[in-house]
Amino acid sequence: MRTVAVTRIGSLRDPDESTRGRIGVVDFPEQPLGPEDVRIRVAYSAICGSDPHLAEGFFGTDVPIGLGHELSGVVEALGERAHRNGLKIGDRVAGNFLRFCGTCRPCQEGRQQFCEHIQDYNRPGMAETVTWHESQVYRLPDGVSLLHGSILEPTSVAVRIADKARARVGDRVAICGGGPIGQLTLQVMKMNGATSLTMIEPIAERREMALRHGADFAIDPVTEDQGSLAAEITDGRGYDIVIDASGSPRAAQGLLDIAAKGATVVYGAMYPASYELSLNLSDYLYLKELTLTGVFVSPYAFPRALQILPYLQLDELTQAVYDLDDAVEAFAVHISGRFPKVVLRCNDIDEEVR
Ligand SMILES: [Zn+2]
Ligand SMILES: [Zn+2]
Repeated sequence: MRTVAVTRIGSLRDPDESTRGRIGVVDFPEQPLGPEDVRIRVAYSAICGSDPHLAEGFFGTDVPIGLGHELSGVVEALGERAHRNGLKIGDRVAGNFLRFCGTCRPCQEGRQQFCEHIQDYNRPGMAETVTWHESQVYRLPDGVSLLHGSILEPTSVAVRIADKARARVGDRVAICGGGPIGQLTLQVMKMNGATSLTMIEPIAERREMALRHGADFAIDPVTEDQGSLAAEITDGRGYDIVIDASGSPRAAQGLLDIAAKGATVVYGAMYPASYELSLNLSDYLYLKELTLTGVFVSPYAFPRALQILPYLQLDELTQAVYDLDDAVEAFAVHISGRFPKVVLRCNDIDEEVR
């Protein structure tokens, strides 16, 4: 079965071809169909900002490392007991690449993100098929295409970020980073009643996209004075919620200074393993009482992500589509930053969207 994988560890941005990380289409065996499993013929699988980190060996260095966790498709086969959620062959679905076992201590304590068996069903989805446990699979709402359905997983991350931000209607909100997670989080925070909603992003096209999708303001942190603009927008008080979706060490520090007293700052991205934020405890935790938090994965968020999918504007996030066999080119386009998101078409599936 053709599967997109990291075939050599290294930075995909390395100018030296001999040490650059490499992506390839390799042959992986199809996973067995257990009694509670669902086999999905994959329609679309989107490239994630975390995929280049995998190429750098963040989660292990044994190649090939199969990729793909943002996918949609059609149910092709069901295990004999996979009937608890009413899934049927032919259903259009998307889902969670992680299975929360429900049995281990963290799962039983309501903290599925720390499930001790979280990797058991984490299988590469940039492939012709993927086989998941039925608890990972969600039927797409009518009217949501398979292409838009591939955005369910990043939407779940935006929902989780909103959960961690503990937003109240009327809160002033800034989001740093206009990639897919930042753009989705912007739309989700808008639904949550965000005001003075500000996108901080150096790329002009991404700032403009945010303004089209509900941002009230946009700041270019490279050519503009982020601190004074943020003060102007918030009457000198700062933002009640500051969200980083950039993962950029250059951006991380300044976000503490645009946060209001009592604000919540969500570092909602992946960061270089060696990066350390310098944190003046007297300024930020004593005098300002900031709450700092982050997001690892998105438990309890998928049903709600599914609910909001029909309300989101997803056309601009799904405009760059490449065939599975062109995965190498698709990753090059992803790295170039030309499109906010790049999607692979893993099978050509006809669908009727009502
Ligand atoms: Zn992702
Ligand atoms: Zn568990």
